[in-house]
Amino acid sequence: MLQSGLFTKTRREAPKDEVANNAKLLIRAGFVHKEMAGVYSYLPLGLRVLNNINEIIRKEMDAIGGQELFLTALQDKSVWEKTNRWDDSVVDNWFKTKLKNGSELGLGFTHEEPLTKLMREHINSFRDLPAYPYQIQTKFRNEIRVKSGIMRGREFLMKDLYSFSKNEEEHNSFYEKAKEAYGKIFSSVGLGDITYVTFASGGSFSKYSHEFQTVCEAGEDIIYVSEDKKIAVNKEVYDEKTLEDLGLKKEELEERKAIEVGNIFSLGTKFSDAFNLDYTDENGEKHPVIMGSYGIGPGRLMGAIVEIFSDERGIVWPEAAAPFAVHLLSLGDSVSKTADKVYNDLREAGVEALYDDRKDATAGEKFADADLIGIPWRLVVSPKTIEQGKVEVKNRRTGEIKMMEEKELVKLLITLNVKPAVKLC
Ligand code: ATP
Ligand code: MG
Repeated sequence: MLQSGLFTKTRREAPKDEVANNAKLLIRAGFVHKEMAGVYSYLPLGLRVLNNINEIIRKEMDAIGGQELFLTALQDKSVWEKTNRWDDSVVDNWFKTKLKNGSELGLGFTHEEPLTKLMREHINSFRDLPAYPYQIQTKFRNEIRVKSGIMRGREFLMKDLYSFSKNEEEHNSFYEKAKEAYGKIFSSVGLGDITYVTFASGGSFSKYSHEFQTVCEAGEDIIYVSEDKKIAVNKEVYDEKTLEDLGLKKEELEERKAIEVGNIFSLGTKFSDAFNLDYTDENGEKHPVIMGSYGIGPGRLMGAIVEIFSDERGIVWPEAAAPFAVHLLSLGDSVSKTADKVYNDLREAGVEALYDDRKDATAGEKFADADLIGIPWRLVVSPKTIEQGKVEVKNRRTGEIKMMEEKELVKLLITLNVKPAVKLC
């Protein structure tokens, strides 16, 4: 993509009312637009990152048998009344609206109820199970405090998968697979080492739900981490009994701030009972379906990545999430032909490149923008590099600089398959 044609511009200042570092950087670098508090639009660069994250999630959900669908955001009140979750005193973050005829509707904050009802039309016998539908869809929550940028939206994207199993054993086996898949997702974007499986309340069947908490000062949650055992306990469930259950000692735990990037729940028969979602087994006997739900916030994950991977100059995208694999900078009119050629060669080789071909920006501005935007590899073509017959390659994370012949560079980019893991230095 030509940067001269990219309509988003970098800016020096983020909006005054923005306090979160992730949103400040993403707005300044032209990835997102703040529509109002807790409501953000994704601009071309931001959408590329979000799509990368969604693809990583899709791949892992598909690998454990997930089937993607897309449910409506508009919700039927009567469906939610079945589980008593329409009541504002039970769920306090509903956005509700009305049809012209006065009937009330809700804007979905999750999808257990409508999906369980829908699945009644598809699950009758043991042959129909297990089933793992999932979606990446917009949720609405009337959050009270929205100080965490794109990590806490009133309108936000959620990947929510729901498992429908015949019995506890089948459920538990999938639950463990989902836990592993979540681990892979967070590792893919470089957060594996600091993201902990965290025991939390909220399971309506099992005692605990499992949160995936990324240790970070910008996090809104407090967790107690066992470095050795690689698990944590959420402050909300932190008591003697829980520690005893998990075989943890107070002395081995450290208090940390963390971001809840994912949460998985065993739901038991709570929803299948409410909607009479049964199946008939081999002997003709009826049983309620055992359910689970598995959420990740792709936008929150993107915000967490920015919080963790950034410095005083801007964002430092991990390869798997980066909007482009390389950022090519052309410095000066005299080199534009050579830089154009490098860009075309990269394109032909299938390397996703953002090409800063702007004629009206100084070298200093281009360098500052490249640091702010944070693409992992910066390639520079300048009179100096041309003199040597080479291209300058810089790693945004390590700052390491290397001069490489163009042919050698493109070849390397191809053999390394560029995304998700480019390693030049
Ligand atoms: P929190 O405690 O932070 O309000 P939650 O526990 O209510 O979140 P879940 O219902 O577990 O959230 O939703 C599943 C996932 O969706 C969360 O783990 C998080 O990654 C994401 N998510 C939840 N709320 C938001 C939000 N307001 N903005 C962005 N992502 C969110
Ligand atoms: Mg949660």
